[in-house]
Amino acid sequence: MTGPTAPPTAASAALFERARAVTPGGVNSPVRAFNAVGGTPRFIRSAAGAWLTDVDGNEYVDLICSWGPMLLGHAHPEVQAAVAAAVARGTSYGTPTEPEVELAEEIVARAPVEKVRFVSSGTEATMSAIRLARGFTGRDVVVKFAGCYHGHVDSLLASAGSGLATFALPGTPGVPESSTALTMVLPYNDRAAVEKAFAEHGDRIACLITEAAPGNMGVVPPEAGFNRFLAETCAQHGALFISDEVMTGFRASKQGQWGLDGAVEGWTPDLVTFGKVMGGGFPAAAFGGRADVMSRLAPDGPVYQAGTLSGNPIATTAGLTTLRLATDDVYAHIGAAADTIKTAAADELSKAGVAHVVQATGTMFSIFFMDTAVRDFDDASRTDSRAYAAFFHAMLDHGVYLPPSAYEAWFLSAAHDDRAVQTVLDALPVAARAAAA
Ligand code: PLP
Repeated sequence: MTGPTAPPTAASAALFERARAVTPGGVNSPVRAFNAVGGTPRFIRSAAGAWLTDVDGNEYVDLICSWGPMLLGHAHPEVQAAVAAAVARGTSYGTPTEPEVELAEEIVARAPVEKVRFVSSGTEATMSAIRLARGFTGRDVVVKFAGCYHGHVDSLLASAGSGLATFALPGTPGVPESSTALTMVLPYNDRAAVEKAFAEHGDRIACLITEAAPGNMGVVPPEAGFNRFLAETCAQHGALFISDEVMTGFRASKQGQWGLDGAVEGWTPDLVTFGKVMGGGFPAAAFGGRADVMSRLAPDGPVYQAGTLSGNPIATTAGLTTLRLATDDVYAHIGAAADTIKTAAADELSKAGVAHVVQATGTMFSIFFMDTAVRDFDDASRTDSRAYAAFFHAMLDHGVYLPPSAYEAWFLSAAHDDRAVQTVLDALPVAARAAAA
């Protein structure tokens, strides 16, 4: 699916072939393989600011930003310098270190948590938060929403059973039924479904986990008051409310999605999971929350949790430096660049006669190729993936790297300056026409 302006891809294609010989699908995380859009994934050699350079020498404006982490842009000089200095002091000691304390203090100062524990991936964060919720409440059942992704935790790779308020089925081969038998999967933004689940099983529910604002089915913002309703419902039933801010944390706003709802409405989640931005591009994540809940974790309490590289000094230094540089100005800049791109994309798609809905929460947004608003996973699954694939490839051919899936958020950074935004604006008309074809 390449046009006359298609950039050369021979070096990426050759690497992809080598990769497929030694790695399943040639990639280390499925979406990178371009299966949803077709074509050759670009192998990236380097990145600076808003730009990626692939192994064929093509340059792209990056609208993936490593799936969220690169809030300041790539190779930010101050982050690079802090990391280089940290590397010079050694890369991992397996002992407590000062950067861990400083990063924990920074997170506690911004987010609605009293204590945090570091881990190495968002998956570990949600898995550990659920274990802690079960250990704290002495209950077993976990409630989640269809279309919310919390990493590849067995019990959360679950599909809704038949009918509301029934228990879930494995969402992938390899997950035994016993792993999802204690998971309930409900439609997002559906208060009645939540009320029914708690009415029927409230005394067994350890926790409800939700993306603070879903970004893994495209961006589907919580309806006004929905997160507060979830927090209150959990509290009424003695369950914990886990807000998964791995994607939205320090990204949707300076205080994550909570800065857009909880901080304004005056409620706090019991536990919050973090990742992406707080690792500054390194494998770091965290979960945190109420001190009384967190104190149930080992070594203070009986709930076991551990990690060889947890709180790694390089990762925590990168995260700390990133968060300290993530000032109000950064979010204002990203928000303005996002608004420019959203408006231009909507205009061009309208001109080309392509059905579309732009949805956003804070600085995060995505475009569904359909004509009605999306409030849950069933709605999202009606997006026109074929139109998106055509749009994606036209953008790529014109130097813009969008997520290679219709179900992903688009991410910008503080480094997306006028030149980068203009490159996106210049590519949009032809991509919109490609989507219409
Ligand atoms: N939670 C959310 C909301 C995510 O978006 C992701 C990853 O995209 C995860 C958890 C899992 O994080 P990781 O990929 O670091 O395991």
